[in-house]
Amino acid sequence: MTTPFNTLIIGGGLSGLTCGIALAKTGRKVAIVSSSTSSLQLNGGAMELLGCVEGKEVTHPLEAIASLPAEHPYQKVGAEHCGTLAIEAKQLLADTGIYTTGSAEQNHWRITPLGVTKPAWLSLRGMATSDAPERLPWKRATLLNLRGFIDFPIQFIVHNLSQLGCEVTVRDIFVESLCQPRRNASEMRAANLARTMGTGSKLRQLAETINQSTTGNEVVLLPAIAGLEDDYPVTLLRRLVKAPLHFLATMPPSVPGTRMATMLRHYFKMLGGTYLAGDTANQVEMADGRVAGIRTAKSPASTLVAEHYVLATGSLMSQGLVATVDGIVEPLFQLDVDAPAEREQWSHYGLMGDQPFMHFGVLTDATLHGVKDGKAIDNLHVIGSILAGHNPLTMGDGTGVDLLTALAVAHEIIE
Ligand SMILES: Cc1cc2nc3c(=O)[nH]c(=O)nc-3n(C[C@H](O)[C@H](O)[C@H](O)COP(=O)(O)OP(=O)(O)OC[C@H]3O[C@@H](n4cnc5c(N)ncnc54)[C@H](O)[C@@H]3O)c2cc1C
Repeated sequence: MTTPFNTLIIGGGLSGLTCGIALAKTGRKVAIVSSSTSSLQLNGGAMELLGCVEGKEVTHPLEAIASLPAEHPYQKVGAEHCGTLAIEAKQLLADTGIYTTGSAEQNHWRITPLGVTKPAWLSLRGMATSDAPERLPWKRATLLNLRGFIDFPIQFIVHNLSQLGCEVTVRDIFVESLCQPRRNASEMRAANLARTMGTGSKLRQLAETINQSTTGNEVVLLPAIAGLEDDYPVTLLRRLVKAPLHFLATMPPSVPGTRMATMLRHYFKMLGGTYLAGDTANQVEMADGRVAGIRTAKSPASTLVAEHYVLATGSLMSQGLVATVDGIVEPLFQLDVDAPAEREQWSHYGLMGDQPFMHFGVLTDATLHGVKDGKAIDNLHVIGSILAGHNPLTMGDGTGVDLLTALAVAHEIIE
């Protein structure tokens, strides 16, 4: 049995869903097949376009993009188009219900789960941010910690926020109705609290406890534990709390990241997209150098057929790339990969430093078609973090590459 789609996207993370939404909006019949959760669940609620070039922090990402090497994905989508694509990406997120602050012209600074600042392009509404790397917008802040909460390394955060010139007072709060996850010592986690809280009486009790513990004049920082499915709980909590309330990213899995993934998926389905969750594309049919169909683990007897195919399977963590005894491979199409064969060149000592494996990725032609044995496959595009030529960790370009390549490829398919 065959199912004809205009486009079949393999991988339902940020890049796959963005491409799917852009295509489905134009009425095209699109399917996404996705094995499991994506790295969005780890995202602390901010998106980066370009944060660092040759070791120097970037303030104006669009200007800095022009200086990137030809193999960088931004050069492939056209450095001159990045500004327009960035505006389009912000609008697509807003259409989905994901409201952000920030612009591509000038970075602001997000606060990481360890309390240090990093350049960012967009931050989810309600997240604590700064307009400068070396200081916070507040001289004093009250940091609220839920008793028993384990996704918040409070001492690191206090130390690092203090280094940024902010006098931090920590207050432990205890909300009886939110303690359901405490039955197991390992369950007092951000996502469990968000799930327990909902938007009813428990959220109101949290707001009341915050109001009783703070004066109403001080800036209040709370770990991001509200709004797993949409940002209504975030808005409601900020309305109910008398003091200015900002959320801080927690250790993953992250509530804001999970919310983004959920909202993108819902919007894609609302536009008529087909989302095949929990299934893995594991076989490819090729004809005359083009992709003719895909088979999946759950339906091995059916072939999913489309005019266009988009590979958005993420990098090593999501198994878009796989380390084997023979080297780093792209397991589905066996596309050409930019990675050394010698295992000892994949990583080196130094946990926090630049690791070679962060650069590994799939090679493409100038218009992001996948390349196999040196030849481009003309009905297969590659998007997102699986692409070679960039480095989310050292360049701070992860989500920007996902969003901009997804939109550029959607435009090419539409045209
Ligand atoms: C720990 C961590 C924290 C991060 N924090 C930030 C941050 O704060 N800010 C920021 O800007 N960026 C951040 N990033 C980077 C950003 O989250 C990623 O760039 C982005 O989410 C990658 O999206 P993607 O769609 O390319 O791939 P992924 O999110 O990896 O999605 C790929 C999907 O494809 C599926 N898949 C794989 N193989 C198959 C197959 N054969 N068949 C079907 N499905 C398949 C996977 O299950 C997965 O769901 C972070 C990344 C990590 C790892």
